[in-house]
Amino acid sequence: MNKTAATMSVSLFSKKSRIATCCLILLHSFQSVFSFASKNVVAGALSQHVPESTASPLAMATDDSRSMLNPIVASVKPSKTVEIFSLVKEMEAAGETVTSLCVGEPDFLPPKAVLEATVAAIQSGDTRYTAVTGTADLRAAIAEDLKKRKGVEYNPANEIVVGNGAKQCVYQGVLATCGEGDKVLVPAPYWPSYPEMVSLVGAEPIVVETKAEDGYLITPEALRSTLEEHPEIKLIILCNPSNPTGGVYHLEKLEAIANVLKDFPNVIVLADEIYERLVYEGECPAFAGVDGMFSRTMTVNGFSKAYAMTGMRLGYVAAPQPLARAITTIQSQLTSCAGSLSQAAGVAALTQVKEEEMEANVEIMREKRDYVLKELSNIPGVNVAMPPNGAFYVLPDVSSYFDGDDTKLCLELLKAKKMAIVPGSSFGAPGTVRLSYATSMEELGIALKKLKEFLAENA
Ligand code: PMP
Repeated sequence: MNKTAATMSVSLFSKKSRIATCCLILLHSFQSVFSFASKNVVAGALSQHVPESTASPLAMATDDSRSMLNPIVASVKPSKTVEIFSLVKEMEAAGETVTSLCVGEPDFLPPKAVLEATVAAIQSGDTRYTAVTGTADLRAAIAEDLKKRKGVEYNPANEIVVGNGAKQCVYQGVLATCGEGDKVLVPAPYWPSYPEMVSLVGAEPIVVETKAEDGYLITPEALRSTLEEHPEIKLIILCNPSNPTGGVYHLEKLEAIANVLKDFPNVIVLADEIYERLVYEGECPAFAGVDGMFSRTMTVNGFSKAYAMTGMRLGYVAAPQPLARAITTIQSQLTSCAGSLSQAAGVAALTQVKEEEMEANVEIMREKRDYVLKELSNIPGVNVAMPPNGAFYVLPDVSSYFDGDDTKLCLELLKAKKMAIVPGSSFGAPGTVRLSYATSMEELGIALKKLKEFLAENA
C-alpha cells in the first residue's frame, strides 16, 4: 500500500465523497480490465505487465484522464483475480479452451431447493424492492441458522443486514466504522479486497505477516504488539477460514485473540466467515460467540461458497444494533436492497437444504484438496508450507521459478498452456500462486498436468 498516496487522498476527501468513490472504482476497475482485451489477449496483458506499485488504474492513466478521477483511486489496485478471469473469458470468446483454477466459485449447481425457490419467486411476481435490510423471512432464517449452528443470537429485526454479496457487506462494514486517520489491521496473506476497501474509505491498512508454522494465523503476540505500535487501529479483519491460505482459527485461537482484545476495548472486529461451512478438521466457531466479543464484532457471511450461489449476489452482516444501523444507512444509499429473487433463494438454502447435502459437499472438496496436495508434492520446487484446512484454495510457494516473479509466472502459464491461476503477490504473499480447487476432478487433473509440464519447461 502506498502510504503517501493514501495520506494525501485521505486529506482531500470527505466521507460523502468516499461513498461515491466506491461506484467510480468499480466502474474504472472494469474499464481497466476490459482495456486488456484484444485479439492477442495474453500478449496484450503481458505488454501491460507493470510492477505492483504502479499497477493502480490511476498510475496507468494519462495526465488528461487523471484529472477526471478521484485521487483516492491512486491508492487502490484493480483485482488481479478479476483481470485474469477476464483474460480467460476473452480467450474463451476467441474460441480457445482455457483451464482455469483462478476464481473461487464451486463448480456444482446450487441445491435443487434453491433453484426451485428462485423459479417459484419469479413466477409469483416476487420482483419488487424489499426492505433495505432484507425480507423478514430471510433475516429470520439467518438468525435461526446462526443460533442453531454457531450458538450466536442476533435479533432479526435490527441486527441483520442482507446485502448484494459478502463483498459488499465487508465494504459496508469497513465504511461504517473507519475513515480518515483510522488504521485497519489486516493479517497477510489476505483476500486482496480487504486492503483495497480500507484504502477506499480513506483509512490505512496495517498488514501483519503471518507464518506457515503458525498456520498462517495471527498470533496473540503479533496482535498485541501491532495494536500497541498503532493506537489508531480501529478495526481488525479476520478471515476464518482464510482465503487464500485455508488456515482456520479454532476456538482456542479465537479465545487467545479475544484475550488480547480485552486490553483494547475500542477495537472492532470484522469476522469474514464466508467459508465457515467448508472446514476439513475441527470446528470454525463464530468470533462473535467468543466470550465478550459479541458487542464489537461484525459477522459477515454469504451464500456464494456454501451454496454455490455466486451469481445470485447474496450475503449478510450480523452485528449489534448501532453497527447494523449504520450499515443499513449506507446500504439504503447504495443499492437499496439485495435482489428479491436471490433472497427467496436464500431462504430455501437455509431452511430446505439438508445437512447431509452440505456435508457431502465438504467431503467432495476434501477429496479435491487431497488430490491437489498430492500432485503438487510431486512437482520439484513447489512447496505447500501448510496444508489448507478450510475453504478451497491452496497457496504453494513457487519462488524458485521466474526469479520469484509470480505475476510473470501466471501470465506466461496462461500464454503457454492456456491455464489460469492467480499470483500470490496480490494476496500479500509474493513468490506463491493461488489455486482454487473448487472445480471438477477432470479439470484439476488437466490443470496439474499442465502446471507440471510448464514448470519443468521453465526450471
Ligand atoms: N470474503 C472472502 C474471503 C471471499 O473469498 C469472497 C469471494 N471470493 C467474498 C468475501 C465475497 O463473496 P460474495 O460472492 O458473497 O460477494
